[in-house]
Amino acid sequence: MQARSQSGQTTDEKATPSKPFTYIIDEFADIKVMRYRFETWQNLSLNQKHLIYHLSCAALWGRDIIWQQHCELNLVVRKALEKALTSYQGSRTTADWKEFETYCKRVFFSNGIHHHYAEEKFFPLCSREYFVSVVASSFGKEKPHIYSEQIAEYVYNPEIAPIRRQSDKSKDLVASSSVAFYKGVSRSEVEQFYQKADQGDSLRPISTGLNTIVVKTEKGIEEKVCRKGGVYGRWIEKIIEHLQAALPYCENEQQKRHTELLISYYTTGDLKTWDDYNIAWVKENEAAVDYISGFIETYLDPLGQKASWEALVDVKDYQATKRCELLSQNAQWFEDNSPINPIYKKEKVVGISAKVIDAVCLAGDNFPTPPIGINLPNSDWIRKEYGSKSVNIANLAHAYEQAAMESPKSVLDEFALTDEEKQRAKLYATLSNDLHTDMHECLGHGSGKLLEQTDQNALKEYSSTLEEARADLFALYYMYDDKMIELGLVSDKQVAMEAYDSYIRNGLLSQLTRIQLGKDLTESHMQARKLISSYAFENSDCIERVYQNNKTYFAIKDYEKLQKVFGNLLAIIQDIKSTGNYAKGKELVETYGVKIDPLLHKQVLERYQKLNLKPYGGFVNVDIVPMRNSAGEVIDYSLEYPESFVEQMLRYGREYSFDE
Ligand SMILES: [Zn+2]
Repeated sequence: MQARSQSGQTTDEKATPSKPFTYIIDEFADIKVMRYRFETWQNLSLNQKHLIYHLSCAALWGRDIIWQQHCELNLVVRKALEKALTSYQGSRTTADWKEFETYCKRVFFSNGIHHHYAEEKFFPLCSREYFVSVVASSFGKEKPHIYSEQIAEYVYNPEIAPIRRQSDKSKDLVASSSVAFYKGVSRSEVEQFYQKADQGDSLRPISTGLNTIVVKTEKGIEEKVCRKGGVYGRWIEKIIEHLQAALPYCENEQQKRHTELLISYYTTGDLKTWDDYNIAWVKENEAAVDYISGFIETYLDPLGQKASWEALVDVKDYQATKRCELLSQNAQWFEDNSPINPIYKKEKVVGISAKVIDAVCLAGDNFPTPPIGINLPNSDWIRKEYGSKSVNIANLAHAYEQAAMESPKSVLDEFALTDEEKQRAKLYATLSNDLHTDMHECLGHGSGKLLEQTDQNALKEYSSTLEEARADLFALYYMYDDKMIELGLVSDKQVAMEAYDSYIRNGLLSQLTRIQLGKDLTESHMQARKLISSYAFENSDCIERVYQNNKTYFAIKDYEKLQKVFGNLLAIIQDIKSTGNYAKGKELVETYGVKIDPLLHKQVLERYQKLNLKPYGGFVNVDIVPMRNSAGEVIDYSLEYPESFVEQMLRYGREYSFDE
């Protein structure tokens, strides 16, 4: 990938808000709402800002689609809640009102009346009578009283739409789910319908049924297509309108081409056009601004065929991309100087260019709980023939990290022993995390080679854990090397010390919070962290186990020595990989990476429980506000960080929805 360098970019230049920037702006129920930062707005050209603005409008206009896909009742309930939040004249300080407001926030956060993760319907904690009185008095004479009663029935009756996506296989997955992909049909009727459906070319099949709903009519069972003039047509028309407005600002011909194909797909709903669009999109790698938009992932469909609507607008993270390029350019030096046996070194090593982006608008299924990495398109044959785009969303990952440290009780405060360690984390965790990821991805996995006679699959079930450990060790070993300072990636050893602190703390303590008591570690990245940390603890004296106030801590005594331990272990694992030594690989993983000391595990879980942290997090978007001259023309845009989750939700409701 050829990253275009931008002139005059000063990525350290941060907007200095009048009060210090906080990531967490709201907490309720089991949720925290965060802001993400978008730091490079001022470096974008006006053209790019126009492009982002229109793409964001196109993204936000799809909001109601996901609400309707989740459950047909969602929009009418939301409109009633919006009305109450904006017009209710009664007291807003009572306990009842607070519960009402919390319910509204939960509905906004979940894009509907079902929990965004558990998928079960949740209920307000204020009484039904109170709920009806608030809604009725907010509408006044606009709606008859029976209307508010009806809304309350949707909200409070546990029999109505109890679950969004049914996963209990003893039930009819289609008929018992509230998702709007199917109307009046059973699972077997849907399956029969698709047995007869056209899949297109057998080598290059279209994604049959991806963007349709299946309904029973007098004529029998039929598919209705999501497109302009079809299902969700009003919203899709708006999406098209804003994509068209974005066209003149596209950064290159290829981007313009895939945008035109997307418009054509939204107009006709034709799945062959959808494939053409995806191919054109995958080929576009030059532009700074990129986006996705459409019916894409199928997790929401109980049958895994129909896609929920989503959008994302993003900008290439030049700082991260540059950092990775710098590492890649020096890949041979890292290979030549690595502490492994020289016979396993590559004569010619090529660093991998990671693609890192920053989100600037999340929408549909990506809002407010987005993934932090994306790999698209999903069609297997397109991936095989044209490849895919795989990206990490850096500003969202940063926001998660920073928000975690903002909580008055944090995992860091609980599991780090000294103030020095905590302080170091606050200053350097973001940089050390970024560098660790870069070195793991851009250098670690690509380093070293197998001996000629070695079978690629020799390590079998231990291969991925050992491979993750190898990439982690490569990163850890070099993190403390003077080369990092020489390349200008860090200014001193504090960053490496932070990386070591947090790695050991996570490997031996905090990652255990994600495992149920009595269970082993099974996930390969987690096993790798445990393997490396336990190995270093048990085979050297540079980490000390401290027991203080009934709590266990692990403190690093000698960072320089720990680097050597990491180097030795890297050499051992490289030897296992290069020779395909299954027995030795198994022994290493089983000894250090799988089992958890039950007493320590219990203690860690109890300490974590007491922190009372919100298990789920999501985001508000940045607001992109057009600035106009006296003639009304847009001359620039300002990027603003919202102060309130509810305010943004109400604004989206006003600006990107229709009056019923
Ligand atoms: Zn990896």
